[in-house]
Amino acid sequence: MVNIDEKSVLDSVAKTLFIGGKWRSASNGAVFKVEDPSTRLTIAEVADATAKDASDALDACVSVQNSWANTPPRVRGEILRRAFELIVARSDELALLMTLEMGKPVAESKGEVAYAAEFFRWFSEEAVRINGDYYTAPDGNARVMTLRQPVGPSLLITPWNFPLAMGTRKIGPALAAGCTVIVKPAEQTPLCMAALMSILEEAGLPPGVVNMITSSDPGAVTAPLIGDSRLRKLSFTGSTEVGKLLMSQASGGLLRLSMELGGNAPLLVFADSDLDKAVNGAVFAKMRNMGEACTSANRIFVESSIVEEFSQRLATAMSDLKVGRGTQDGVQVGPLIDQPAIDKVTSLIDDATSKGARVVTGGSKLDMSGYFYSPTVLVGVESTWRIAQEEIFGPIAPIYSFSSEDEAIAMANNTNYGLVAYLFTENLNRALRVTEKLETGMIGLNQGLVSNAAAPFGGVKQSGFGREGGFEGINEYLYIKYIAINHKS
Ligand code: NAP
Repeated sequence: MVNIDEKSVLDSVAKTLFIGGKWRSASNGAVFKVEDPSTRLTIAEVADATAKDASDALDACVSVQNSWANTPPRVRGEILRRAFELIVARSDELALLMTLEMGKPVAESKGEVAYAAEFFRWFSEEAVRINGDYYTAPDGNARVMTLRQPVGPSLLITPWNFPLAMGTRKIGPALAAGCTVIVKPAEQTPLCMAALMSILEEAGLPPGVVNMITSSDPGAVTAPLIGDSRLRKLSFTGSTEVGKLLMSQASGGLLRLSMELGGNAPLLVFADSDLDKAVNGAVFAKMRNMGEACTSANRIFVESSIVEEFSQRLATAMSDLKVGRGTQDGVQVGPLIDQPAIDKVTSLIDDATSKGARVVTGGSKLDMSGYFYSPTVLVGVESTWRIAQEEIFGPIAPIYSFSSEDEAIAMANNTNYGLVAYLFTENLNRALRVTEKLETGMIGLNQGLVSNAAAPFGGVKQSGFGREGGFEGINEYLYIKYIAINHKS
């Protein structure tokens, strides 16, 4: 099943830990398997770190923290810039690797590789703009001086759904700020992160500044690190449930935290929208990454006068999508990540249909070797059902109907999550009114995509806190030091 290109890409990646600039096996020699979700075949065996390996990684961080923080910002930036260029030069290989371990179609993987690279370019430019301030206090005597300094050794934990970009979105600002890091990628997708470690090494990053531990038992390796007083920062992207657990662990050492957690994005379509734009935007916001994105449109609210037409058009667009192994030409929708993902989607559909929802298209697992589920449109869904309250993380578009702007806003905000919302309307005043009232950290206005390395990505409510990307992203890895001066006395 694995062809020659696939084999050479898989062979080219180290399957070991990266600690203190050295590639090495787990201290007990253990490994775990990585599966291709489109075939269910094992494609690699990767080192399974122990708590001792994790502690070695922190030793490495601590030993070079001062020298890295004192490395000129221009030099730090130039290393990131070289890493950006290496990612771009290897985008075909990285994209294939991503498709093999995660399943998304190669065209989408290429999009993620470009997005991932962009964080290194952006933060290579931000590394030289870590400024402070100097001003006169209101009494006319005191002077206030501020510096921004690196927070120190940081643990970065990333999910499987964007195997490369969720890493560069943290590593880029951390390195630019002068922090050393340990990266813990998801068990299902460690290979892209290993490839990234090689790129950073080749770009000239000194040993120990970046370290990677891979594990099949994440709590066992990260809890001791989080409890170690030498660690100063935890940045986590993943589920709200695990985020809460890590926050409670981090309270012992009062770690600086960034939490990029789950979403339950509403997508609002008003009757005054451009319907072509709204349908295309909905397909994109729903189906990017097979619906396995924190930004995925989870609840589609459509004004009652156009709900029938919109549902039909969305169903046609969804049923036209070609599902298959992500390495095949023309495939637009790959497999879900694993059997639990299929089970979750199936149980949400079963729950909704048993309560009266109607499947317009899709609605079943596909009879293929991997974890494939058909793109699905559901109508007649209600806001109190599980499918409205939980993250679907799959290719299901449930459509709800509303009859006024206030009702649409209330329905959209009726969730504990608050990452992103999408809004389709050609009425400028409505667009401004509604965006101000939606309780989310980001809004896609007449578009189904918000991700941009130059913009502050992040949520409110139980979608977390902190911002990644944009001018704000580097602040997650800096603290402000204030120096009190009174030169008149
Ligand atoms: P997850 O189960 O929370 O896992 C995320 C990461 O945490 C993985 O590396 C995982 O390792 C690790 N982890 C799990 N349990 C842990 C523990 N007890 N201690 C330490 N680490 C632990 O989430 P996921 O299924 O990988 O990713 C999907 C979730 O991520 C969704 O909720 C999605 O919305 C969210 N997400 C949010 C954003 C954002 O920017 N807001 C972006 C992407 C994804 P293992 O892989 O070994 O379990």
